[in-house]
Amino acid sequence: MQPDYLIVGAGLFGAVCAHELAGKGYSSLVIDRRNHIAGNIYTKNVHGIQVHQYGAHIFHTSDREVWDYVNRFAEFNQYINSPVAFYKDEVYNLPFNMNTFSKMWGVRTPEEARRKIAEQVEKLNIKMPENLEEQALSLVGTDIYEKLIKGYTEKQWGRPCRELPAFIIRRLPCRFTYDNNYFNDRYQGIPIGGYTDIVKQMLSDARITVELGVDFKSYREAHDIHEMQVIYTGCIDEYFDYKLGTLEYRSVRFETEELDMENYQGNAVVNYTERSVPYTRIIEHKHFEFGTQPTTVISREYSQEWSKGLEPYYPVNDPRNQERFLAYEKLAESETNVTFGGRLGQYRYYDMDKVIRAALDYMSTVKRKG
Ligand code: UDP
Repeated sequence: MQPDYLIVGAGLFGAVCAHELAGKGYSSLVIDRRNHIAGNIYTKNVHGIQVHQYGAHIFHTSDREVWDYVNRFAEFNQYINSPVAFYKDEVYNLPFNMNTFSKMWGVRTPEEARRKIAEQVEKLNIKMPENLEEQALSLVGTDIYEKLIKGYTEKQWGRPCRELPAFIIRRLPCRFTYDNNYFNDRYQGIPIGGYTDIVKQMLSDARITVELGVDFKSYREAHDIHEMQVIYTGCIDEYFDYKLGTLEYRSVRFETEELDMENYQGNAVVNYTERSVPYTRIIEHKHFEFGTQPTTVISREYSQEWSKGLEPYYPVNDPRNQERFLAYEKLAESETNVTFGGRLGQYRYYDMDKVIRAALDYMSTVKRKG
């Protein structure tokens, strides 16, 4: 018996869809080429510490419905992300806030900080910021750009800041209060027990079958999928066998080690913002959950250009890739039984809450079976 839906990818978008479809009476087969569920939000328990195997994932949202939705699958702790940045021998708080400004310039009031930034911005004469560099400079001035943004961004994206879209830097708050919360969202936390368990619960319904280690390409060759509804969350260019050329992605290589010490860096996230340090940041996983274990697990993140065989993490939404993506999207319109979702299917720098929102919105268009 063929299932009603084929869902390609057992990550967040696929899992929310499978769960919602089951609730509407549809069966689905979820396939994933990896040998685990949960995509890049996969977490693994190492001596009691939830290790974010594919990089730090901090859940944050202002969408009440999405927050209520994830809370059905896990209890969230009170973690608030407050990364620090190391630049040479200097230590700064992130995001850009009064703590950062006072450390940088010795200023104490918002007015002094604004004046300092304005002095630097005035000299640059930027009218409408057209790329990440101009956007960053006009938000925080030259000093912060040079010390905390330029090196980190060029390592992270492997491209000059002038060639990157401005929206990437607008992900970060810039505020004139002494507040180190990295996000402006109303709700925030880390799921107690890890993210994998959330996805596991979403997928645990008699109407859902999960097959791991199954590649879409071989599945498509072996089965006629034209009669099925397909939800595809892999790379959209791969779906079409790259016939319009490849889209660019950034990938990440992690060097993860367990250290025989209780506390390595005193914070979950430490960014290394100078160009000459090869990694972008070090994650100390236990601090996401206030862990008190005798050992600790850390991951150094090395950003690299994606090539076939690596995991894609970040779409490179510069104008050239964006144009190519739009061409793929056009092709996608003629695949009437296929919906493309998630970071890779929609080539979008989605956060987790936005993925859930998109999946729920899509599911609201699907009628109950029968
Ligand atoms: N960024 C930066 N310096 C930092 C942290 C971030 O310049 O110390 C910039 C960088 O361009 C990065 C972007 O802000 O790609 C978005 O950062 P975010 O922390 O949202 O990235 P993610 O956690 O998704 O990798």
